[in-house]
Amino acid sequence: MLLSPVTLSVVTPMFNEREAVDHFVARLRPVLDALDEPYEVVAVDDGSSDATVSRLMQLRADWPQLRVVALRRNVGHQTALRAGLRASRGGYVVSIDADLQDPPEVIGEMLEAARREKVDVVYGVRSDRSTDTAFKRQTAGLYYRMMRRLVGPWVSDQAGDFRLMSRAVVDVLNELPEPRPVYRLIVPSLGFASAEVPYVRAERVAGETKYPLSKMIKLTIDSVTSFSAAPLKAATWLGLFSFFACVVLIAVALIRWLAGETVPGWTSLYLAVLLLGGIQLVCVGLLGEYIGRIYAASQGRPAFLVAFDTAALDVATIARPVPGGPITDDVEAVELATPTPTSHQPA
Ligand code: UDP
Ligand code: MG
Repeated sequence: MLLSPVTLSVVTPMFNEREAVDHFVARLRPVLDALDEPYEVVAVDDGSSDATVSRLMQLRADWPQLRVVALRRNVGHQTALRAGLRASRGGYVVSIDADLQDPPEVIGEMLEAARREKVDVVYGVRSDRSTDTAFKRQTAGLYYRMMRRLVGPWVSDQAGDFRLMSRAVVDVLNELPEPRPVYRLIVPSLGFASAEVPYVRAERVAGETKYPLSKMIKLTIDSVTSFSAAPLKAATWLGLFSFFACVVLIAVALIRWLAGETVPGWTSLYLAVLLLGGIQLVCVGLLGEYIGRIYAASQGRPAFLVAFDTAALDVATIARPVPGGPITDDVEAVELATPTPTSHQPA
């Protein structure tokens, strides 16, 4: 069944979602079954340390369309999504969170909108985020305002990673050499025809957010540096400003010296040194961000490693897997191992 072409792939990154996964499957399955189209669900386990993988393997036993792609370690939401997009085979691909904040019922509407309006992308647009915490709403608001300025007005301030994409879009994304793509910015910037479907952002069904402040900051740095060299230009302006400030300070010092005033000088000297030192460090740090990215790209290390993909195991039950064959030829799916779901739990 999984070997036949699928119309729809539903890609879901999961990180320590043991508490949410049953709720998720119970809500998603009736929606997808009712579509009456061949589909697959690609659950990408992002190196969970809880029992997410073993639970998924159990659920798979009576839901053959559920495919488990287990990554070797936690690589973060966007990279897990990337692994899922690479693995997906559907003519349309929907990405959705596992915590039921994005309602699965909207998937049918997205598919219908894509066909009716003949578009390649359908964004799920949050019409109401009142269930998110005030902090989340504020930081998200700030993030999207900044991104609209940097990336362009086509970035919707209410579109996250709940969206449907056609195979054409997914193929373009899969070709990108970027080490850490931020899909919610890249997809709109590609310029494919798109539509929107509104939805109400629900509360997380179970468990805690897997996006602590540190991950949000990382996403923001990735977003800015992958779309704009503006921070580097800001460094130039800061440098110029401090240079002129110094020229003025020198002139003032000279005039006061000529006027015979003995300037104690400590404070101004100290401040100037601190200011210049600070600005230089900021500039070096900014350069480092970009050079770090060039370095990472030149190393060419895989962004993720697939520990196993149950689809490849399905093939293996019919024929021995051929190295470089249709399922296993993904450059990043370099290893095929027998599933060892229990190895993902803490010892
Ligand atoms: N997630 C992931 N890897 C991570 C963090 C999160 O795959 O390192 C997944 C998580 O399991 C969920 C989705 O990304 O399906 C969104 O995370 P979460 O709901 O915790 O973020 P929030 O909605 O709080 O922003
Ligand atoms: Mg969530």
